[in-house]
Amino acid sequence: MLPKPVLEQAQRELIDWQGRGFSVMEVSHRSDAFLEIVEQSEQRLRQLMDIPEHYKIALMQGGATAQFSIVPMNLFSSRKQADYIETGIWSSKAISHGQKLGQINVAASSKKENFTLIPSFTTWQLQTDADYVHYTPNETIHGVEFPFVPDTGDVPLVADFSSSILSQPIDVTQFGVIYAGAQKNIGPSGITLIIIREDLLERVAPEIPEVFTYKTFIKEHSLLNTPPTFAWYLANLTFKWLQDEGGIEEMAKRNQRKSEKLYAAIDASDLYHNPVNPNCRSRMNVPFTIADEALNELFLQQAEEVGLVALRGHRSVGGMRASLYNAMPEAGVDALIAFMHEFEQRNSIT
Ligand code: PMP
Repeated sequence: MLPKPVLEQAQRELIDWQGRGFSVMEVSHRSDAFLEIVEQSEQRLRQLMDIPEHYKIALMQGGATAQFSIVPMNLFSSRKQADYIETGIWSSKAISHGQKLGQINVAASSKKENFTLIPSFTTWQLQTDADYVHYTPNETIHGVEFPFVPDTGDVPLVADFSSSILSQPIDVTQFGVIYAGAQKNIGPSGITLIIIREDLLERVAPEIPEVFTYKTFIKEHSLLNTPPTFAWYLANLTFKWLQDEGGIEEMAKRNQRKSEKLYAAIDASDLYHNPVNPNCRSRMNVPFTIADEALNELFLQQAEEVGLVALRGHRSVGGMRASLYNAMPEAGVDALIAFMHEFEQRNSIT
Protein backbone atom coordinates (compact mmCIF):
# COMPACT_ATOMS: atom_id res chain seq x y z
CA MET A 1 0.00 0.00 0.00
CA LEU A 2 0.95 3.61 -0.45
CA PRO A 3 -0.21 6.16 2.13
CA LYS A 4 -3.54 7.64 1.05
CA PRO A 5 -2.44 11.27 1.58
CA VAL A 6 0.47 10.60 -0.79
CA LEU A 7 -1.82 9.26 -3.50
CA GLU A 8 -4.23 12.12 -2.98
CA GLN A 9 -1.51 14.74 -3.33
CA ALA A 10 -0.18 12.99 -6.44
CA GLN A 11 -3.69 12.97 -7.87
CA ARG A 12 -4.18 16.69 -7.17
CA GLU A 13 -0.83 17.55 -8.72
CA LEU A 14 -0.81 15.08 -11.57
CA ILE A 15 -1.58 17.49 -14.38
CA ASP A 16 -0.48 20.75 -12.84
CA TRP A 17 2.43 20.25 -10.45
CA GLN A 18 2.35 22.96 -7.77
CA GLY A 19 0.95 25.57 -10.16
CA ARG A 20 3.73 25.14 -12.72
CA GLY A 21 1.37 24.23 -15.53
CA PHE A 22 2.91 20.80 -16.21
CA SER A 23 3.20 17.38 -14.62
CA VAL A 24 6.21 16.25 -12.61
CA MET A 25 6.40 13.41 -15.14
CA GLU A 26 7.04 15.90 -17.91
CA VAL A 27 10.07 17.71 -16.50
CA SER A 28 13.71 17.00 -17.15
CA HIS A 29 15.49 15.22 -14.33
CA ARG A 30 18.10 17.96 -14.55
CA SER A 31 15.63 20.85 -14.27
CA ASP A 32 15.70 23.05 -11.17
CA ALA A 33 12.19 21.88 -10.33
CA PHE A 34 13.23 18.25 -10.21
CA LEU A 35 16.52 18.99 -8.46
CA GLU A 36 14.41 20.31 -5.59
CA ILE A 37 12.98 16.82 -5.19
CA VAL A 38 16.46 15.30 -5.37
CA GLU A 39 17.68 17.49 -2.54
CA GLN A 40 14.54 17.42 -0.44
CA SER A 41 14.18 13.64 -0.55
CA GLU A 42 17.76 13.15 0.61
CA GLN A 43 17.34 15.63 3.46
CA ARG A 44 14.09 14.00 4.55
CA LEU A 45 15.56 10.51 4.47
CA ARG A 46 18.64 11.61 6.41
CA GLN A 47 16.41 13.15 9.05
CA LEU A 48 14.07 10.13 9.25
CA MET A 49 16.85 7.55 9.53
CA ASP A 50 19.38 9.78 11.27
CA ILE A 51 21.97 9.07 8.58
CA PRO A 52 25.38 10.56 9.41
CA GLU A 53 27.40 12.56 6.88
CA HIS A 54 29.93 9.81 6.26
CA TYR A 55 27.15 7.64 4.86
CA LYS A 56 26.19 8.40 1.27
CA ILE A 57 22.84 7.82 -0.39
CA ALA A 58 22.22 6.62 -3.93
CA LEU A 59 19.11 5.69 -5.84
CA MET A 60 19.60 3.09 -8.53
CA GLN A 61 17.41 0.94 -10.77
CA GLY A 62 17.06 -2.80 -11.19
CA GLY A 63 15.47 -3.44 -7.80
CA ALA A 64 17.04 -5.37 -4.95
CA THR A 65 17.69 -8.16 -7.44
CA ALA A 66 20.24 -6.03 -9.29
CA GLN A 67 21.90 -5.34 -5.93
CA PHE A 68 22.49 -9.08 -5.50
CA SER A 69 25.18 -8.58 -8.19
CA ILE A 70 26.01 -4.89 -7.69
CA VAL A 71 26.99 -5.42 -4.03
CA PRO A 72 29.70 -8.01 -4.85
CA MET A 73 30.84 -6.00 -7.87
CA ASN A 74 31.46 -2.99 -5.63
CA LEU A 75 32.68 -4.64 -2.45
CA PHE A 76 34.80 -7.58 -3.53
CA SER A 77 38.52 -7.19 -3.03
CA SER A 78 40.84 -9.23 -5.23
CA ARG A 79 40.10 -12.25 -2.98
CA LYS A 80 36.37 -12.12 -3.85
CA GLN A 81 35.15 -13.82 -0.68
CA ALA A 82 32.02 -13.02 1.29
CA ASP A 83 29.92 -14.56 4.05
CA TYR A 84 26.17 -14.88 3.53
CA ILE A 85 23.44 -15.83 5.98
CA GLU A 86 20.69 -17.94 4.43
CA THR A 87 17.32 -17.41 6.07
CA GLY A 88 14.81 -17.63 3.20
CA ILE A 89 14.20 -17.27 -0.50
CA TRP A 90 15.58 -13.74 -0.84
CA SER A 91 18.88 -14.43 0.89
CA SER A 92 19.14 -17.68 -1.12
CA LYS A 93 18.77 -15.66 -4.30
CA ALA A 94 21.40 -13.20 -3.11
CA ILE A 95 23.71 -16.18 -2.57
CA SER A 96 23.15 -17.70 -5.99
CA HIS A 97 23.68 -14.37 -7.76
CA GLY A 98 26.82 -13.73 -5.68
CA GLN A 99 28.21 -17.16 -6.54
CA LYS A 100 28.57 -16.10 -10.16
CA LEU A 101 31.02 -13.41 -9.11
CA GLY A 102 33.06 -14.88 -6.29
CA GLN A 103 33.45 -17.28 -3.42
CA ILE A 104 30.35 -17.29 -1.21
CA ASN A 105 30.58 -18.92 2.20
CA VAL A 106 27.16 -19.69 3.64
CA ALA A 107 28.07 -18.97 7.25
CA ALA A 108 24.69 -19.98 8.65
CA SER A 109 21.45 -21.35 7.23
CA SER A 110 17.97 -22.21 8.43
CA LYS A 111 17.11 -24.13 5.26
CA LYS A 112 16.82 -27.42 7.17
CA GLU A 113 14.22 -25.79 9.40
CA ASN A 114 12.24 -24.60 6.36
CA PHE A 115 13.26 -21.03 7.11
CA THR A 116 11.19 -20.77 10.27
CA LEU A 117 13.92 -19.40 12.52
CA ILE A 118 17.09 -17.32 12.60
CA PRO A 119 20.22 -19.39 13.30
CA SER A 120 21.71 -18.43 16.65
CA PHE A 121 24.58 -15.97 16.13
CA THR A 122 26.94 -18.18 18.17
CA THR A 123 26.70 -20.88 15.48
CA TRP A 124 27.67 -18.63 12.54
CA GLN A 125 30.87 -19.69 10.77
CA LEU A 126 32.13 -16.23 9.86
CA GLN A 127 35.52 -15.75 8.18
CA THR A 128 37.66 -13.01 9.67
CA ASP A 129 38.95 -11.99 6.24
CA ALA A 130 35.63 -11.93 4.33
CA ASP A 131 35.07 -8.87 2.13
CA TYR A 132 31.64 -8.43 3.74
CA VAL A 133 28.80 -10.27 5.49
CA HIS A 134 25.41 -10.23 3.77
CA TYR A 135 22.06 -10.87 5.43
CA THR A 136 18.36 -10.18 4.92
CA PRO A 137 16.88 -8.56 8.05
CA ASN A 138 13.34 -9.42 6.98
CA GLU A 139 12.53 -12.40 4.78
CA THR A 140 9.39 -11.21 3.01
CA ILE A 141 8.07 -14.60 1.90
CA HIS A 142 8.65 -16.62 5.06
CA GLY A 143 7.79 -13.81 7.49
CA VAL A 144 11.03 -14.17 9.43
CA GLU A 145 12.75 -11.12 10.88
CA PHE A 146 16.07 -10.82 12.68
CA PRO A 147 15.53 -9.73 16.29
CA PHE A 148 19.15 -8.44 16.36
CA VAL A 149 21.74 -6.76 14.16
CA PRO A 150 24.76 -9.05 13.82
CA ASP A 151 28.06 -7.65 15.08
CA THR A 152 30.58 -8.51 12.37
CA GLY A 153 33.45 -6.47 13.80
CA ASP A 154 35.66 -4.96 11.11
CA VAL A 155 33.97 -6.87 8.30
CA PRO A 156 31.33 -4.61 6.72
CA LEU A 157 27.76 -5.73 7.20
CA VAL A 158 25.51 -5.58 4.11
CA ALA A 159 21.75 -5.75 4.60
CA ASP A 160 18.90 -6.23 2.14
CA PHE A 161 16.29 -4.12 3.92
CA SER A 162 13.79 -4.27 1.04
CA SER A 163 10.83 -5.28 3.16
CA SER A 164 11.54 -3.61 6.49
CA ILE A 165 13.27 -0.31 5.69
CA LEU A 166 11.75 2.63 7.61
CA SER A 167 9.63 0.29 9.75
CA GLN A 168 11.62 0.84 12.95
CA PRO A 169 14.66 2.89 13.95
CA ILE A 170 18.03 1.36 13.10
CA ASP A 171 21.55 2.52 13.84
CA VAL A 172 22.93 3.11 10.35
CA THR A 173 26.50 3.06 11.66
CA GLN A 174 26.22 -0.68 12.32
CA PHE A 175 26.12 -1.26 8.56
CA GLY A 176 28.49 -1.00 5.63
CA VAL A 177 25.74 -1.05 3.01
CA ILE A 178 21.97 -0.95 3.34
CA TYR A 179 19.90 -1.52 0.22
CA ALA A 180 16.17 -1.72 -0.37
CA GLY A 181 13.81 -1.88 -3.30
CA ALA A 182 11.34 0.97 -2.96
CA GLN A 183 8.08 -0.87 -3.40
CA LYS A 184 7.28 -1.70 0.21
CA ASN A 185 7.86 1.22 2.55
CA ILE A 186 9.42 3.86 0.28
CA GLY A 187 7.06 4.30 -2.64
CA PRO A 188 6.19 2.54 -5.87
CA SER A 189 8.61 0.20 -7.64
CA GLY A 190 11.30 1.57 -9.90
CA ILE A 191 13.95 2.88 -7.54
CA THR A 192 16.32 1.10 -5.20
CA LEU A 193 17.77 2.87 -2.18
CA ILE A 194 21.42 2.37 -1.25
CA ILE A 195 23.02 3.79 1.88
CA ILE A 196 26.76 3.19 1.98
CA ARG A 197 29.62 4.03 4.29
CA GLU A 198 31.86 6.46 2.44
CA ASP A 199 35.14 4.55 2.72
CA LEU A 200 33.62 1.51 0.99
CA LEU A 201 33.16 3.53 -2.20
CA GLU A 202 36.88 3.23 -2.83
CA ARG A 203 36.86 -0.56 -2.99
CA VAL A 204 35.40 -0.87 -6.45
CA ALA A 205 37.68 -2.45 -9.04
CA PRO A 206 38.40 -0.29 -12.14
CA GLU A 207 36.90 -2.81 -14.56
CA ILE A 208 33.39 -2.52 -13.07
CA PRO A 209 31.10 -0.67 -15.51
CA GLU A 210 30.17 2.85 -14.39
CA VAL A 211 26.45 2.14 -14.46
CA PHE A 212 26.91 -0.44 -11.67
CA THR A 213 29.31 1.62 -9.57
CA TYR A 214 28.18 3.16 -6.27
CA LYS A 215 30.94 5.75 -6.41
CA THR A 216 29.72 7.08 -9.74
CA PHE A 217 26.10 7.24 -8.59
CA ILE A 218 27.08 9.16 -5.46
CA LYS A 219 29.23 11.57 -7.47
CA GLU A 220 26.39 12.16 -9.93
CA HIS A 221 23.72 12.52 -7.20
CA SER A 222 21.99 9.46 -8.69
CA LEU A 223 21.53 11.36 -11.95
CA LEU A 224 24.05 9.38 -13.97
CA ASN A 225 21.22 8.64 -16.36
CA THR A 226 17.51 9.39 -16.39
CA PRO A 227 16.00 8.06 -13.15
CA PRO A 228 12.35 7.00 -12.72
CA THR A 229 11.29 10.54 -11.85
CA PHE A 230 7.68 9.86 -10.90
CA ALA A 231 8.69 7.09 -8.49
CA TRP A 232 11.25 9.45 -6.96
CA TYR A 233 8.61 12.17 -6.57
CA LEU A 234 6.32 9.68 -4.80
CA ALA A 235 9.14 8.51 -2.54
CA ASN A 236 9.72 12.14 -1.55
CA LEU A 237 6.02 12.52 -0.69
CA THR A 238 6.17 9.28 1.33
CA PHE A 239 9.15 10.61 3.32
CA LYS A 240 7.13 13.76 4.04
CA TRP A 241 4.17 11.63 5.13
CA LEU A 242 6.43 9.68 7.49
CA GLN A 243 7.68 12.93 9.01
CA ASP A 244 4.13 14.24 9.40
CA GLU A 245 3.03 11.02 11.08
CA GLY A 246 5.74 11.21 13.73
CA GLY A 247 8.67 9.52 12.03
CA ILE A 248 10.09 6.04 12.30
CA GLU A 249 9.58 5.71 16.07
CA GLU A 250 5.86 6.16 15.55
CA MET A 251 5.87 3.68 12.65
CA ALA A 252 7.66 1.16 14.88
CA LYS A 253 4.96 1.48 17.54
CA ARG A 254 2.19 1.05 15.01
CA ASN A 255 3.90 -1.88 13.31
CA GLN A 256 4.43 -3.61 16.65
CA ARG A 257 0.78 -3.15 17.57
CA LYS A 258 -0.54 -4.29 14.19
CA SER A 259 1.59 -7.44 14.03
CA GLU A 260 1.08 -8.41 17.69
CA LYS A 261 -2.69 -8.28 17.22
CA LEU A 262 -2.59 -10.48 14.15
CA TYR A 263 -0.22 -13.06 15.65
CA ALA A 264 -2.35 -13.19 18.80
CA ALA A 265 -5.44 -13.88 16.68
CA ILE A 266 -3.63 -16.63 14.76
CA ASP A 267 -2.23 -18.25 17.90
CA ALA A 268 -5.63 -18.20 19.61
CA SER A 269 -7.32 -19.99 16.72
CA ASP A 270 -7.56 -23.69 15.88
CA LEU A 271 -7.88 -23.04 12.16
CA TYR A 272 -4.91 -20.75 11.44
CA HIS A 273 -1.25 -21.43 12.01
CA ASN A 274 1.99 -19.47 11.71
CA PRO A 275 5.08 -21.72 11.67
CA VAL A 276 7.71 -19.12 12.56
CA ASN A 277 9.59 -19.21 15.85
CA PRO A 278 7.96 -16.49 18.00
CA ASN A 279 11.27 -14.72 18.67
CA CYS A 280 11.75 -13.89 14.99
CA ARG A 281 8.30 -13.35 13.60
CA SER A 282 8.18 -10.55 11.08
CA ARG A 283 6.34 -7.33 11.89
CA MET A 284 5.89 -6.71 8.17
CA ASN A 285 4.82 -10.01 6.64
CA VAL A 286 2.59 -12.46 8.47
CA PRO A 287 2.23 -15.78 6.67
CA PHE A 288 -0.37 -18.25 7.89
CA THR A 289 -1.87 -21.54 6.79
CA ILE A 290 -5.35 -22.95 7.25
CA ALA A 291 -5.62 -26.35 8.95
CA ASP A 292 -7.77 -27.65 6.12
CA GLU A 293 -5.89 -26.63 2.96
CA ALA A 294 -9.00 -27.22 0.88
CA LEU A 295 -10.37 -24.00 2.42
CA ASN A 296 -7.58 -21.79 1.04
CA GLU A 297 -9.38 -20.73 -2.11
CA LEU A 298 -12.66 -20.13 -0.27
CA PHE A 299 -10.80 -17.97 2.27
CA LEU A 300 -9.19 -15.86 -0.44
CA GLN A 301 -12.41 -15.50 -2.38
CA GLN A 302 -14.54 -14.52 0.60
CA ALA A 303 -11.85 -12.17 1.88
CA GLU A 304 -11.81 -10.41 -1.47
CA GLU A 305 -15.59 -10.05 -1.34
CA VAL A 306 -15.22 -7.91 1.78
CA GLY A 307 -12.36 -5.87 0.33
CA LEU A 308 -9.43 -7.79 1.84
CA VAL A 309 -7.07 -8.36 -1.07
CA ALA A 310 -3.49 -9.47 -1.78
CA LEU A 311 -3.59 -12.19 0.88
CA ARG A 312 -2.36 -15.08 -1.22
CA GLY A 313 0.96 -16.44 0.04
CA HIS A 314 3.94 -16.49 -2.28
CA ARG A 315 3.70 -19.29 -4.83
CA SER A 316 6.76 -21.00 -3.33
CA VAL A 317 5.23 -21.46 0.13
CA GLY A 318 1.46 -21.36 -0.46
CA GLY A 319 -1.08 -20.47 2.24
CA MET A 320 -1.77 -16.82 3.04
CA ARG A 321 0.35 -13.81 3.81
CA ALA A 322 -0.76 -10.50 5.24
CA SER A 323 1.69 -7.70 4.58
CA LEU A 324 1.53 -4.94 7.17
CA TYR A 325 3.79 -2.29 5.66
CA ASN A 326 3.81 1.23 7.08
CA ALA A 327 0.90 2.45 4.99
CA MET A 328 -1.43 -0.34 6.18
CA PRO A 329 -3.70 1.26 8.79
CA GLU A 330 -4.51 -0.54 12.01
CA ALA A 331 -8.13 -0.62 10.88
CA GLY A 332 -7.04 -2.84 7.98
CA VAL A 333 -5.58 -5.34 10.43
CA ASP A 334 -8.72 -5.18 12.59
CA ALA A 335 -10.85 -5.90 9.53
CA LEU A 336 -8.70 -8.90 8.62
CA ILE A 337 -8.86 -10.30 12.16
CA ALA A 338 -12.64 -9.89 12.25
CA PHE A 339 -12.97 -11.65 8.90
CA MET A 340 -10.65 -14.49 9.97
CA HIS A 341 -12.73 -15.00 13.09
CA GLU A 342 -16.01 -15.14 11.17
CA PHE A 343 -14.51 -17.47 8.60
CA GLU A 344 -13.31 -19.79 11.34
CA GLN A 345 -16.74 -19.87 12.91
CA ARG A 346 -18.39 -20.66 9.60
CA ASN A 347 -15.90 -23.40 8.84
CA SER A 348 -15.02 -24.80 12.24
CA ILE A 349 -13.89 -28.40 12.22
CA THR A 350 -16.27 -30.34 14.46
N1 PMP B 1 14.81 -8.87 -1.32
C1 PMP B 1 13.68 -8.86 -0.58
C2 PMP B 1 13.81 -8.99 0.91
C3 PMP B 1 12.44 -8.70 -1.19
O1 PMP B 1 11.32 -8.69 -0.45
C4 PMP B 1 12.37 -8.57 -2.59
C5 PMP B 1 11.07 -8.37 -3.32
N2 PMP B 1 9.94 -8.77 -2.73
C6 PMP B 1 13.55 -8.61 -3.31
C7 PMP B 1 14.76 -8.75 -2.65
C8 PMP B 1 13.56 -8.47 -4.81
O2 PMP B 1 13.22 -7.17 -5.11
P1 PMP B 1 13.05 -6.61 -6.60
O3 PMP B 1 11.84 -7.24 -7.17
O4 PMP B 1 12.90 -5.15 -6.34
O5 PMP B 1 14.29 -6.95 -7.33
